[in-house]
Amino acid sequence: MGNEIFTDNAKFTPYWWDEAPRPEIGSEGIPNAVDVVIIGAGFSGLSAALTIARGGRGVAVLEADRPGEGASSRNGGAVGATLRFSFAKLTKMHGLKTALRFYSETREARSWLYDFIESEGIECDLHRVGRFIGCHRPKDYDLLGRDLELQEKYLGTEGEMVSKAEQQRFIGSDIYHGGRFLREDANLHPGKLHQGLLAKVMAEGVPVLGRSKVNAIRRENGGFVLQVGFRSVRTRQLVVATNGYTGKETPWLHRRLLPMQSQIIATEHLAPDIMGQLVPENRQLGDTSRLHCYFRASPGHDRILFGSRAGAAEINDRRKSGRLLYRRLIEIFPQLSEVKITHSWGGFIAYTFDHMLHLARNDDIFYVAGFCGSGVVNANYLGHKTGLKVLGKPNSQTVFDSEHPTLPFYTGKPWFLAPIVALKYWQDKLGL
Ligand SMILES: Cc1cc2nc3c(=O)[nH]c(=O)nc-3n(C[C@H](O)[C@H](O)[C@H](O)COP(=O)(O)OP(=O)(O)OC[C@H]3O[C@@H](n4cnc5c(N)ncnc54)[C@H](O)[C@@H]3O)c2cc1C
Repeated sequence: MGNEIFTDNAKFTPYWWDEAPRPEIGSEGIPNAVDVVIIGAGFSGLSAALTIARGGRGVAVLEADRPGEGASSRNGGAVGATLRFSFAKLTKMHGLKTALRFYSETREARSWLYDFIESEGIECDLHRVGRFIGCHRPKDYDLLGRDLELQEKYLGTEGEMVSKAEQQRFIGSDIYHGGRFLREDANLHPGKLHQGLLAKVMAEGVPVLGRSKVNAIRRENGGFVLQVGFRSVRTRQLVVATNGYTGKETPWLHRRLLPMQSQIIATEHLAPDIMGQLVPENRQLGDTSRLHCYFRASPGHDRILFGSRAGAAEINDRRKSGRLLYRRLIEIFPQLSEVKITHSWGGFIAYTFDHMLHLARNDDIFYVAGFCGSGVVNANYLGHKTGLKVLGKPNSQTVFDSEHPTLPFYTGKPWFLAPIVALKYWQDKLGL
């Protein structure tokens, strides 16, 4: 293959949009007043809206772009009981009791999503195939093993450590120093999940309005007035569900999130024998590198979708970011060196200063955000919990309703991320 890694008709939009295009919903029908407004029509905003509507309250969702245009229809579709800190690390940091509270609820959240998809009959290619995480460095094998031991003992996690000699059972690559398989994880088609969720919300009669960016929020008579273009929308209660796309309109949240990009590429169609060799049994895949690669087969098991952080400097040029990702893909699967790329895209995730997800209430506004790159389960689940909070239900309690920290002088612009990403890149390269 020459230098060109992209096919002639390569797209710089998510692969998922081919089958689940973003709906063209405009701002027509925007209400003058409604009981509850939700800002953001991703998983968290829609999940909150569904719960609130089914609880009997009037609710509208305002979305700056097309519904689902944010991370919710751009992600890798990996489903897990995932927090940024491992169970072993959380135990070391905060003690067993606290770690158990966080991890038990994260496991509950994953089950909640499985039940939700099943009971609502949402067709989103959910496959409970488990996840294999390859060890980037030899010492990661012991770290993952110790963590798994603790998880098995205290949480009942089902998994196994896989030696380097055995890893071809899970992945057609020799690059890793063994790995860990978690049986209860899954993957799905995020575009279809979003589409299904949106259909459920709209079926409840909830107005979900696209191209309706909230530009300003002011308080009036114990409620809020939102400025959307030249229109004003009055509401009694407000939920902000904007995660990695949070702007200055909501300064409290803006100061608490570290937005960053994650990117994905999709290969062209691959023959069944190659796919069977690279991703036997269609597992979700990932690794322990600092920039964290996550990858998988497409739902049809006929191409590889490969994601990672491509580096802060490359974020807005999908050709450049695609090339960087491609290099990493070829390191893992040299068998693909003649294969071209058909899609390259990215989107914003949001980290937090304590690496935890948060549902918070400040000054009478509900905020649900900070999924640290793992929002397929967590955004849907915490969106639902936020809905319950708005309804004032006792079962709205969650361990993630905790202090949401910021840092003095942080204004919402994480200028320090570029050097951190560069450092992580070199640490990965040198195996440190
Ligand atoms: C490339 C990529 C890969 C990922 N892979 C995975 C994965 O495999 N597994 C996993 O669990 N998670 C993954 N994630 C993370 C996951 O997608 C997110 O955590 C989750 O989708 C967040 O959902 P959300 O609804 O909170 O936010 P989003 O889906 O980002 O929605 C926020 C919405 O708010 C809107 N908005 C912002 N400001 C305003 C305003 N002023 N007025 C109106 N609307 C506004 C935005 O337009 C946006 O649509 C990935 C993310 C990316 C980008």
